[in-house]
Amino acid sequence: MTSPPKTAAKTTSEKPTARKPPSGKRAQRASAAGAAKSPQKPGQGSPKPARASARKAAPKTSVAQAPQAVDAPPVQQASVLACYEALVRAHPDAHCELDHKNPFQLIVATALSAQSTDVQVNKVTPGLFKAYPTPQALGSASQEQVEALINRLGMFRQKAKNLIGMAQALVRDHGGQVPPDLAALVKLPGVGRKTANVVLGVAFAAPVGVVVDTHVQRITQRLHWTRHQDPIKIEQDLMRLLPQSEWDRVSHTLIFHGRRVCFARRPACSTCPVNERCASAFVAETVGRKPARVR
Ligand code: SF4
Repeated sequence: MTSPPKTAAKTTSEKPTARKPPSGKRAQRASAAGAAKSPQKPGQGSPKPARASARKAAPKTSVAQAPQAVDAPPVQQASVLACYEALVRAHPDAHCELDHKNPFQLIVATALSAQSTDVQVNKVTPGLFKAYPTPQALGSASQEQVEALINRLGMFRQKAKNLIGMAQALVRDHGGQVPPDLAALVKLPGVGRKTANVVLGVAFAAPVGVVVDTHVQRITQRLHWTRHQDPIKIEQDLMRLLPQSEWDRVSHTLIFHGRRVCFARRPACSTCPVNERCASAFVAETVGRKPARVR
Protein backbone atom coordinates (compact mmCIF):
# COMPACT_ATOMS: atom_id res chain seq x y z
CA MET A 1 0.00 0.00 0.00
CA THR A 2 2.89 2.30 0.67
CA SER A 3 5.03 1.64 -2.38
CA PRO A 4 5.00 4.20 -5.19
CA PRO A 5 2.93 3.38 -8.27
CA LYS A 6 4.65 0.72 -10.38
CA THR A 7 3.75 2.20 -13.69
CA ALA A 8 4.41 5.75 -12.71
CA ALA A 9 7.37 7.47 -14.29
CA LYS A 10 10.53 7.32 -12.19
CA THR A 11 11.65 10.57 -10.75
CA THR A 12 14.70 11.77 -8.95
CA SER A 13 14.56 12.85 -5.33
CA GLU A 14 11.20 14.37 -4.52
CA LYS A 15 12.25 15.93 -1.26
CA PRO A 16 9.69 18.43 -0.12
CA THR A 17 11.38 21.67 -1.04
CA ALA A 18 9.57 24.40 0.76
CA ARG A 19 8.91 27.20 -1.67
CA LYS A 20 8.63 30.62 -0.17
CA PRO A 21 5.43 32.53 -0.70
CA PRO A 22 5.70 35.49 -3.09
CA SER A 23 5.54 38.95 -1.67
CA GLY A 24 5.01 42.51 -2.85
CA LYS A 25 4.57 42.97 -6.59
CA ARG A 26 5.38 39.30 -7.16
CA ALA A 27 2.44 38.32 -4.97
CA GLN A 28 0.17 40.64 -6.95
CA ARG A 29 1.37 39.11 -10.22
CA ALA A 30 0.95 35.57 -8.81
CA SER A 31 -2.51 36.37 -7.59
CA ALA A 32 -3.49 37.75 -10.97
CA ALA A 33 -1.99 34.73 -12.71
CA GLY A 34 -3.79 32.38 -10.34
CA ALA A 35 -7.07 34.09 -11.03
CA ALA A 36 -6.45 33.81 -14.75
CA LYS A 37 -5.59 30.11 -14.48
CA SER A 38 -8.39 29.31 -12.05
CA PRO A 39 -11.11 27.05 -13.42
CA GLN A 40 -13.68 29.11 -11.56
CA LYS A 41 -16.01 31.09 -13.69
CA PRO A 42 -16.83 34.71 -13.28
CA GLY A 43 -19.85 35.11 -11.05
CA GLN A 44 -18.89 32.46 -8.54
CA GLY A 45 -18.78 35.20 -5.97
CA SER A 46 -22.57 35.14 -6.17
CA PRO A 47 -22.85 31.42 -5.67
CA LYS A 48 -26.45 30.38 -5.94
CA PRO A 49 -27.23 31.61 -9.42
CA ALA A 50 -23.86 30.37 -10.71
CA ARG A 51 -24.32 26.90 -9.25
CA ALA A 52 -27.85 26.65 -10.45
CA SER A 53 -26.88 27.57 -13.99
CA ALA A 54 -23.92 25.15 -13.90
CA ARG A 55 -26.25 22.36 -12.89
CA LYS A 56 -28.67 23.17 -15.67
CA ALA A 57 -25.92 23.28 -18.25
CA ALA A 58 -24.26 20.01 -17.20
CA PRO A 59 -25.21 17.02 -19.36
CA LYS A 60 -26.78 14.17 -17.42
CA THR A 61 -24.55 11.12 -17.02
CA SER A 62 -25.69 7.77 -15.70
CA VAL A 63 -23.88 6.91 -12.49
CA ALA A 64 -22.84 3.50 -13.82
CA GLN A 65 -21.82 4.80 -17.21
CA ALA A 66 -18.11 5.39 -17.72
CA PRO A 67 -17.89 9.04 -18.62
CA GLN A 68 -16.87 9.83 -22.17
CA ALA A 69 -13.63 11.56 -23.02
CA VAL A 70 -13.61 15.28 -22.48
CA ASP A 71 -10.99 17.89 -23.22
CA ALA A 72 -7.63 16.91 -21.86
CA PRO A 73 -6.30 18.02 -18.48
CA PRO A 74 -3.99 21.03 -18.63
CA VAL A 75 -0.86 19.14 -17.51
CA GLN A 76 1.28 16.39 -18.99
CA GLN A 77 0.83 12.85 -17.68
CA ALA A 78 4.51 12.49 -16.73
CA SER A 79 4.25 15.60 -14.59
CA VAL A 80 1.11 14.27 -12.88
CA LEU A 81 2.76 10.93 -12.15
CA ALA A 82 5.81 12.58 -10.64
CA CYS A 83 3.62 14.80 -8.47
CA TYR A 84 1.48 11.81 -7.47
CA GLU A 85 4.57 9.83 -6.43
CA ALA A 86 5.60 12.70 -4.16
CA LEU A 87 2.12 12.78 -2.61
CA VAL A 88 2.19 9.01 -2.03
CA ARG A 89 5.52 9.38 -0.26
CA ALA A 90 4.12 12.21 1.86
CA HIS A 91 1.02 10.20 2.85
CA PRO A 92 2.09 6.54 2.90
CA ASP A 93 -0.62 5.77 5.46
CA ALA A 94 -3.48 7.01 3.31
CA HIS A 95 -6.43 4.65 3.57
CA CYS A 96 -10.20 4.50 3.89
CA GLU A 97 -11.03 5.89 7.34
CA LEU A 98 -14.51 4.42 7.60
CA ASP A 99 -14.38 1.62 10.18
CA HIS A 100 -15.58 -1.70 8.74
CA LYS A 101 -14.86 -5.42 8.86
CA ASN A 102 -16.51 -6.67 5.68
CA PRO A 103 -18.05 -5.38 2.41
CA PHE A 104 -21.52 -5.12 3.98
CA GLN A 105 -20.28 -2.89 6.78
CA LEU A 106 -18.31 -0.80 4.28
CA ILE A 107 -21.26 -0.19 1.97
CA VAL A 108 -23.41 0.79 4.96
CA ALA A 109 -20.75 3.13 6.36
CA THR A 110 -20.10 4.71 2.97
CA ALA A 111 -23.79 5.27 2.33
CA LEU A 112 -24.01 6.96 5.74
CA SER A 113 -21.05 9.24 4.97
CA ALA A 114 -22.92 11.45 2.51
CA GLN A 115 -22.94 14.97 3.98
CA SER A 116 -21.28 13.58 7.15
CA THR A 117 -17.66 13.15 8.18
CA ASP A 118 -15.98 9.77 8.59
CA VAL A 119 -15.53 10.56 12.29
CA GLN A 120 -19.27 11.14 12.72
CA VAL A 121 -20.08 7.92 10.85
CA ASN A 122 -17.60 5.91 12.91
CA LYS A 123 -19.44 6.98 16.06
CA VAL A 124 -22.78 5.51 14.98
CA THR A 125 -21.77 2.40 13.05
CA PRO A 126 -20.65 0.26 16.05
CA GLY A 127 -24.17 0.38 17.51
CA LEU A 128 -25.76 -0.12 14.12
CA PHE A 129 -23.59 -3.13 13.24
CA LYS A 130 -24.13 -4.65 16.67
CA ALA A 131 -27.92 -4.41 16.34
CA TYR A 132 -27.99 -5.42 12.66
CA PRO A 133 -24.87 -7.42 11.73
CA THR A 134 -26.20 -8.82 8.45
CA PRO A 135 -28.27 -7.67 5.48
CA GLN A 136 -31.01 -10.04 6.66
CA ALA A 137 -31.16 -8.36 10.06
CA LEU A 138 -31.02 -4.81 8.70
CA GLY A 139 -33.59 -5.60 6.04
CA SER A 140 -36.03 -6.71 8.76
CA ALA A 141 -35.52 -3.61 10.92
CA SER A 142 -38.14 -0.91 11.26
CA GLN A 143 -37.54 2.63 10.07
CA GLU A 144 -37.84 3.94 13.64
CA GLN A 145 -35.29 1.47 15.00
CA VAL A 146 -32.65 2.39 12.44
CA GLU A 147 -33.35 6.10 12.75
CA ALA A 148 -32.79 5.90 16.50
CA LEU A 149 -29.31 4.50 15.92
CA ILE A 150 -28.15 6.99 13.28
CA ASN A 151 -30.01 10.16 14.23
CA ARG A 152 -26.76 12.02 14.96
CA LEU A 153 -26.11 12.13 11.22
CA GLY A 154 -27.58 14.54 8.71
CA MET A 155 -30.45 13.28 6.56
CA PHE A 156 -30.84 10.33 8.96
CA ARG A 157 -34.44 9.60 7.96
CA GLN A 158 -33.60 9.22 4.28
CA LYS A 159 -30.44 7.29 5.14
CA ALA A 160 -32.39 4.87 7.36
CA LYS A 161 -34.90 4.27 4.59
CA ASN A 162 -32.11 3.66 2.06
CA LEU A 163 -30.19 1.31 4.37
CA ILE A 164 -33.23 -0.88 4.94
CA GLY A 165 -34.03 -0.89 1.22
CA MET A 166 -30.42 -1.67 0.32
CA ALA A 167 -30.28 -4.57 2.81
CA GLN A 168 -33.54 -5.98 1.46
CA ALA A 169 -32.22 -5.73 -2.12
CA LEU A 170 -28.99 -7.51 -1.12
CA VAL A 171 -31.02 -10.38 0.35
CA ARG A 172 -33.56 -10.48 -2.48
CA ASP A 173 -31.23 -10.09 -5.47
CA HIS A 174 -27.73 -11.07 -4.31
CA GLY A 175 -28.09 -13.85 -1.73
CA GLY A 176 -27.25 -11.48 1.11
CA GLN A 177 -23.84 -10.62 -0.39
CA VAL A 178 -22.49 -7.30 -1.64
CA PRO A 179 -21.96 -7.76 -5.39
CA PRO A 180 -18.47 -6.81 -6.71
CA ASP A 181 -20.04 -5.18 -9.73
CA LEU A 182 -20.57 -1.49 -10.45
CA ALA A 183 -23.80 -1.84 -12.41
CA ALA A 184 -25.35 -4.01 -9.69
CA LEU A 185 -24.13 -1.77 -6.87
CA VAL A 186 -25.57 1.47 -8.25
CA LYS A 187 -29.01 -0.16 -8.49
CA LEU A 188 -29.10 -0.53 -4.70
CA PRO A 189 -31.06 2.15 -2.84
CA GLY A 190 -28.81 4.95 -1.59
CA VAL A 191 -25.76 3.74 -3.56
CA GLY A 192 -24.30 6.05 -6.19
CA ARG A 193 -21.17 5.83 -8.28
CA LYS A 194 -19.01 7.26 -5.48
CA THR A 195 -20.16 4.68 -2.91
CA ALA A 196 -19.81 1.89 -5.46
CA ASN A 197 -16.25 2.98 -6.28
CA VAL A 198 -15.34 2.99 -2.58
CA VAL A 199 -16.71 -0.54 -2.13
CA LEU A 200 -15.03 -1.91 -5.27
CA GLY A 201 -11.68 -0.27 -4.50
CA VAL A 202 -11.49 -0.85 -0.75
CA ALA A 203 -13.45 -4.06 -0.12
CA PHE A 204 -12.65 -5.90 -3.36
CA ALA A 205 -9.37 -4.23 -4.47
CA ALA A 206 -10.94 -4.01 -7.91
CA PRO A 207 -11.51 -0.33 -8.67
CA VAL A 208 -13.31 0.51 -11.87
CA GLY A 209 -13.21 4.25 -11.23
CA VAL A 210 -11.84 6.92 -8.93
CA VAL A 211 -13.70 8.28 -5.91
CA VAL A 212 -14.05 12.03 -6.33
CA ASP A 213 -15.10 13.73 -3.11
CA THR A 214 -14.74 17.37 -2.14
CA HIS A 215 -11.00 17.00 -1.34
CA VAL A 216 -10.20 15.21 -4.59
CA GLN A 217 -12.24 17.77 -6.50
CA ARG A 218 -10.47 20.75 -4.91
CA ILE A 219 -6.91 19.42 -5.06
CA THR A 220 -7.05 18.13 -8.63
CA GLN A 221 -8.23 21.57 -9.69
CA ARG A 222 -5.45 23.28 -7.76
CA LEU A 223 -2.81 20.95 -9.21
CA HIS A 224 -4.27 21.47 -12.70
CA TRP A 225 -4.83 17.73 -13.10
CA THR A 226 -8.26 18.69 -14.40
CA ARG A 227 -9.99 21.74 -15.78
CA HIS A 228 -13.43 20.49 -14.72
CA GLN A 229 -15.67 20.96 -11.70
CA ASP A 230 -18.07 18.10 -12.42
CA PRO A 231 -16.94 15.03 -10.37
CA ILE A 232 -17.76 12.66 -13.24
CA LYS A 233 -15.47 14.57 -15.60
CA ILE A 234 -12.75 14.87 -12.96
CA GLU A 235 -12.96 11.11 -12.49
CA GLN A 236 -12.55 10.62 -16.22
CA ASP A 237 -9.42 12.80 -16.21
CA LEU A 238 -7.92 10.85 -13.31
CA MET A 239 -8.66 7.53 -14.99
CA ARG A 240 -6.75 8.69 -18.05
CA LEU A 241 -3.83 10.17 -16.13
CA LEU A 242 -3.19 7.33 -13.68
CA PRO A 243 -2.88 3.55 -14.12
CA GLN A 244 -5.83 1.49 -12.89
CA SER A 245 -3.67 0.01 -10.15
CA GLU A 246 -3.66 3.47 -8.55
CA TRP A 247 -7.34 4.36 -8.92
CA ASP A 248 -8.13 3.38 -5.33
CA ARG A 249 -5.00 4.79 -3.69
CA VAL A 250 -5.10 8.14 -5.48
CA SER A 251 -8.36 9.15 -3.84
CA HIS A 252 -7.17 8.18 -0.33
CA THR A 253 -3.89 10.01 -0.93
CA LEU A 254 -5.59 13.20 -2.09
CA ILE A 255 -8.11 13.01 0.75
CA PHE A 256 -5.27 12.73 3.29
CA HIS A 257 -3.47 15.62 1.58
CA GLY A 258 -6.66 17.69 1.77
CA ARG A 259 -7.12 16.93 5.47
CA ARG A 260 -3.51 17.56 6.45
CA VAL A 261 -2.03 20.14 4.06
CA CYS A 262 -4.15 21.42 1.20
CA PHE A 263 -7.01 22.75 3.29
CA ALA A 264 -9.94 24.42 1.60
CA ARG A 265 -9.20 27.60 3.53
CA ARG A 266 -5.57 28.58 3.94
CA PRO A 267 -3.78 25.64 2.34
CA ALA A 268 -0.33 25.10 3.86
CA CYS A 269 1.54 25.75 0.63
CA SER A 270 4.80 26.70 2.33
CA THR A 271 5.20 23.20 3.78
CA CYS A 272 3.53 21.28 0.96
CA PRO A 273 5.75 18.60 -0.59
CA VAL A 274 4.51 19.39 -4.09
CA ASN A 275 4.55 23.19 -3.99
CA GLU A 276 7.25 23.23 -6.68
CA ARG A 277 4.90 21.34 -8.98
CA CYS A 278 1.60 22.99 -8.08
CA ALA A 279 0.18 25.58 -10.45
CA SER A 280 -1.82 27.13 -7.61
CA ALA A 281 0.88 27.26 -4.91
CA PHE A 282 0.42 30.33 -2.69
CA VAL A 283 -2.55 31.53 -4.74
CA ALA A 284 -4.86 28.59 -4.09
CA GLU A 285 -7.20 30.12 -1.52
CA THR A 286 -10.04 30.53 -4.02
CA VAL A 287 -9.26 27.62 -6.35
CA GLY A 288 -11.42 24.52 -6.13
CA ARG A 289 -13.50 25.75 -3.22
CA LYS A 290 -17.24 25.61 -2.98
CA PRO A 291 -18.80 29.06 -3.14
CA ALA A 292 -19.92 30.36 0.22
CA ARG A 293 -23.59 29.85 1.01
CA VAL A 294 -25.89 32.82 0.77
CA ARG A 295 -28.20 32.86 3.78
S1 SF4 B 1 -2.43 24.55 -3.31
FE1 SF4 B 1 -0.69 24.62 -1.89
S2 SF4 B 1 -1.09 22.98 -0.39
FE2 SF4 B 1 -2.40 22.60 -2.18
S3 SF4 B 1 -1.24 21.19 -3.47
FE3 SF4 B 1 -0.78 23.28 -4.19
S4 SF4 B 1 1.07 23.89 -3.06
FE4 SF4 B 1 0.20 22.09 -2.02
